[in-house]
Amino acid sequence: MNSTAQDLATAFTDRFGTEPDGLWSAPGRVNVIGEHTDYNDGFVLPFAIRHSTTVAAAVRSDRLVRVASTFAPDEDAVVADLDELSEGSVEGWAAYPLGVLWALEQSGYRCPGMDLLVDSSVPVGAGLSSSAALECSVAVAANELAQADISRRELAVIGQLAENRMVGAPTGIMDQSASLLGEAGHAVFLDCRSGASRLVPLDLEGAGLELMVIDTRVSHSHATGGYAARRRSCELGAEMMGVAALRDLSVKDLAEAAGVLDEETFRRVRHIVTENARVEDAVEVLTRKGPAELGPLLVASHASMRDDFEISCAELDTAVDTALEAGALGARMTGGGFGGSAIALARVGDVPAIRSAVETAFSAAGFRSPVIFSVLPGAGAARIA
Ligand code: ADP
Ligand code: MG
Repeated sequence: MNSTAQDLATAFTDRFGTEPDGLWSAPGRVNVIGEHTDYNDGFVLPFAIRHSTTVAAAVRSDRLVRVASTFAPDEDAVVADLDELSEGSVEGWAAYPLGVLWALEQSGYRCPGMDLLVDSSVPVGAGLSSSAALECSVAVAANELAQADISRRELAVIGQLAENRMVGAPTGIMDQSASLLGEAGHAVFLDCRSGASRLVPLDLEGAGLELMVIDTRVSHSHATGGYAARRRSCELGAEMMGVAALRDLSVKDLAEAAGVLDEETFRRVRHIVTENARVEDAVEVLTRKGPAELGPLLVASHASMRDDFEISCAELDTAVDTALEAGALGARMTGGGFGGSAIALARVGDVPAIRSAVETAFSAAGFRSPVIFSVLPGAGAARIA
């Protein structure tokens, strides 16, 4: 057990009075490319990062669950009875772990009561999916403690069910899939329609590269409204084009779409269609050439989100443009848009210059200072002690 794991086990015993039966970790994720394609039944290419969430857990003999987090060390554990959980019945952060146990039971598995203590190194709300890391750590722990032997793919669906129905966030399957299926040195190519996935080599370290995350710390109040509006545009575009989802259109259908759709809907559709093609191209590039060649696809993805999907903002554009000027091989905004983080692919030696250029540009523009760090592909969820 490493020292952080040992500290968590000790904190568990201090809080609950027993030793944990085990510790399970699940990583956050970053999406290399494929933005807003998930709810259009399309493709995404995330990787599991090395920042992760760990849960210490012990089975109880009753049906109670007590859950606490090192994020709120002074708060009492949230206590719930597994027989009384129902959709939307839990408020606040405990909805994620309790939602997973509820979703397991909804899916036909019987879960024992348990005590849970959560600890995380995944920054919250920076676009790295601390929520999926939390769900997946609890999902792999509960899977083992309930001796349920559930596949990783089904655990991802259970995590998504928790987030959709207990937390109430209409998110896709990408984050949980990356957290559960990721492997060191690889990205996860995921078909959001079929749920099929395949590992694609992504040895950033071997290529002397890092993926920088530039968290703008902007969370626009209209982000939720913007996201819902984009989803509606995509649904409208698919309906008008007579397809089940935009995934069913290819780049050669765009000429026809231009005649059928209004100008704005057409640009929304064009982003999704070209972005799906870019994900497939990225898989091809990684398989045949290696990560250093990904840059142009990242740049094209950003331009498409900025101009066609219109979900960027001044801070994100500044982060991307400055990173590119300072030597990044590629850069783009990531996540829902209107704030959040950008990513930049950079040679390790260029990272300090890119970082200081972005910090200087943010300060000159009067923006809040960004938080900048690097991520590398790491292992998927696993028991660690
Ligand atoms: P993200 O992009 O990081 O996934 P979300 O809003 O989807 O952002 O999820 C963040 C929420 O997940 C937090 O507000 C909190 O409720 C919950 N969460 C994540 N990690 C932890 C943790 N270690 N302890 C308690 N709650 C957590
Ligand atoms: Mg999340």
